[in-house]
Amino acid sequence: MKRVHNFSAGPAMIPQEVLEKARRELLCYGDSGMSVMEMSHRSSDYKPIIERAESLLRELLGVDKSYKILFLQGGATQQFSQIPMNLLTGSGRADYIESGNFAQKAAKEASRYGKVQIVASSAADAYNHVPSWKQEDFDPQADYFHITTNNTIFGTRFTEIPETGDVPLVADMSSNILAEDYDFSKFSLIYAGAQKNIGPSGVTVVIVKEDILKKEPLPFTPSIMNYHTMIKEGSMYNTPSTYSIYVAMLVFEWIIDQGGIPAMKKLAEKRAAILYDTLDQSRLFKGTSAKKDRSLMNITFITGDTERDNRFVAEAKEEGLVNLKGHRLVGGIRASIYNAMPIDGVEALADFMKRFEKKG
Ligand code: PMP
Repeated sequence: MKRVHNFSAGPAMIPQEVLEKARRELLCYGDSGMSVMEMSHRSSDYKPIIERAESLLRELLGVDKSYKILFLQGGATQQFSQIPMNLLTGSGRADYIESGNFAQKAAKEASRYGKVQIVASSAADAYNHVPSWKQEDFDPQADYFHITTNNTIFGTRFTEIPETGDVPLVADMSSNILAEDYDFSKFSLIYAGAQKNIGPSGVTVVIVKEDILKKEPLPFTPSIMNYHTMIKEGSMYNTPSTYSIYVAMLVFEWIIDQGGIPAMKKLAEKRAAILYDTLDQSRLFKGTSAKKDRSLMNITFITGDTERDNRFVAEAKEEGLVNLKGHRLVGGIRASIYNAMPIDGVEALADFMKRFEKKG
């Protein structure tokens, strides 16, 4: 069977070379005589895999040893509570920018454990842009400041990172990690669910600067949610998502082979430009996010007619262009184009959009 062009927002495409390598190694990894799936996480066969995954990710992000890298479970959603449980230990206050549905969920969860200030919000405009903020509104005593760098559902991204001074900056990078180049040393904690730009679902990457973890977490924090515990145990307080971490390692190798994050960013800009140019030249399709904040990863658009949107999604599927339905919260059309999406997938979609428009 022919592989389709998969525009899923996540779990999303994995580079074909990675899948092929995983297939070659599926039954027997190296000279272990077994599949990675069958290995004890504490075995001498598995240890080099998680260590290599960590060192490749460290190399890609260019972060030094003052940052700890963890491979956890529970998705990015678990971090919505794990972060406040571990960090709301000073003033008990945190600042959040509410730039989308996941940012809103993160803030809501944190408000169970302390006082959350929404510094800026675009909720009133259905999150169609990243809200602007005023530095003077930032709480200088906040325990941390939280942003979501790419808004998966509404298709926007931060093009500028807030200056938070001594307040640790925390970022949910689930949907654009390893695709955009940041000065990662500006962040004290970065987290991302794997299932978009890293690998299969089931593992969540947390990169945390150890010096923000001076205190013990809030007293009721379960051991499994305590960053200190996970750091001490090298992400192995319990059984980690061993196979997902292995595939993540293969994806990190693949990204490095392609030229690292700068090469990924260039490709991301190229892919996004093909679709945004098509949208801007179209009289049928309309992009739903503000031009200045357009995401490079999630391209959201509509025809203005729900029935026609649905027909577009259905007819695209027949051409092997799948998973183009917008998020269930907003409807419309969304093309998610992460690192593994080849340029020809995006060209095929642009071509189909033009043909669909002509046909009427
Ligand atoms: N944050 C962002 C930006 C996301 O896109 C998602 C999932 N699409 C989440 C958080 C939630 O991630 P998970 O399903 O891994 O908990």
